[in-house]
Amino acid sequence: MNVLKLKSCSIYFEDDRFTNLNAYLSNSQYTSITIICDTLTYKHCLPLVLKRIKNLSKAHIIKLPNGEKSKSIDVVQNIFAQLIKTQQSKKMLIINLGGGTVCDIGGFAASVYKRGVDYINIPTTLLAMVDAAIGGKTGVNFLGLKNIIGTIYQPKCIIINTNFLNTLPQLEIYSGLAEMYKTQIIGFKKMQPINLTNKTLFQQSVYNTVKFKVGIVLKDEFEQHERKILNFGHTIGHAIEGYYSQINTQILHGEAVVIGMICATWLSYHRQLLSHNDFEKIISTIKNNFKLTLVSKQYFSALYLLMQNDKKNSFKLPSFILLKAIGLPIIQVEVSKMEIIKSLTYYNSLCK
Ligand code: NAD
Repeated sequence: MNVLKLKSCSIYFEDDRFTNLNAYLSNSQYTSITIICDTLTYKHCLPLVLKRIKNLSKAHIIKLPNGEKSKSIDVVQNIFAQLIKTQQSKKMLIINLGGGTVCDIGGFAASVYKRGVDYINIPTTLLAMVDAAIGGKTGVNFLGLKNIIGTIYQPKCIIINTNFLNTLPQLEIYSGLAEMYKTQIIGFKKMQPINLTNKTLFQQSVYNTVKFKVGIVLKDEFEQHERKILNFGHTIGHAIEGYYSQINTQILHGEAVVIGMICATWLSYHRQLLSHNDFEKIISTIKNNFKLTLVSKQYFSALYLLMQNDKKNSFKLPSFILLKAIGLPIIQVEVSKMEIIKSLTYYNSLCK
């Protein structure tokens, strides 16, 4: 449980010695290094990284405001301006130190600055460790649409050190857990509780989740087929994230994905694809592990419009990942507005 390979990207599972990252930087010849972080990872994570990784003492630091609002073209422009002002060459290295927000923005900037420079992801949230930092998807939001502008561009390495999670708020941990349970639903034969208190068991679950994603990305890096299954729960999830940001209501990615997973599970059962037994298992596992909050009926039509505009959608109707069984997803199932509304109504019935 030390390293996984995703093409030329090495994924290292490290402790606070950062042995592999130190070795990588000592053996490489970058002209400069820029660390991109946000206000909270600057405070909680950067000091450890600077203390333990000797090659970073002269790194330029770019600090972004924390939160999803930073995933904008304006913020990326600001990064370009700072890279140009500090004369960073094509042989520079960008290190993204943060959650999915920093990894998505920093990876996007790295993929287009001087037509692409090397970058490393050091994820500091659970969601980024098991999902966002892995697989090379980068991007920003635009006009209320999630990740509508972006690239697929692999980092040179990904450094996973679960000790960063010590300062992460509990709600953010649950956001990452949502993606871990998603992996169980789409990829494993059975669902098991994820142990948050036993460090060894927890690290093993993180490793298993990462390994599953790596396997999928290796088969289908550019999301032509298999990789689409990772979007389970995301058709409705992304619409909710996009709409809530338009109306200035806070919701975490994982919370939105939980809503989407319940709706997609209900749709699978409603279409008689999924057995009652598997339906019950999935719904009860989600209910036991997550707090569910009501989605106002008044939002349903706006959410549907966003789903039609989802970048994953090349059909007339929104396209979903549904399930034939636990561990057996099916891609590109078109779903009508009425069914989507019924699934959201079912979700709301669980929020008691
Ligand atoms: P985030 O990056 O916004 O981080 C959540 C909050 O935690 C922020 O306030 C951040 O400052 C803070 N934080 C980060 N690390 C911390 C630490 N160690 N201690 C204390 N605070 C810390 O959110 P996220 O949930 O990591 O990522 C969400 C984003 O990831 C979304 O934009 C989503 O679209 C994207 N995403 C991308 C992919 C992909 O494949 N590229 C996959 C899933 C999600």
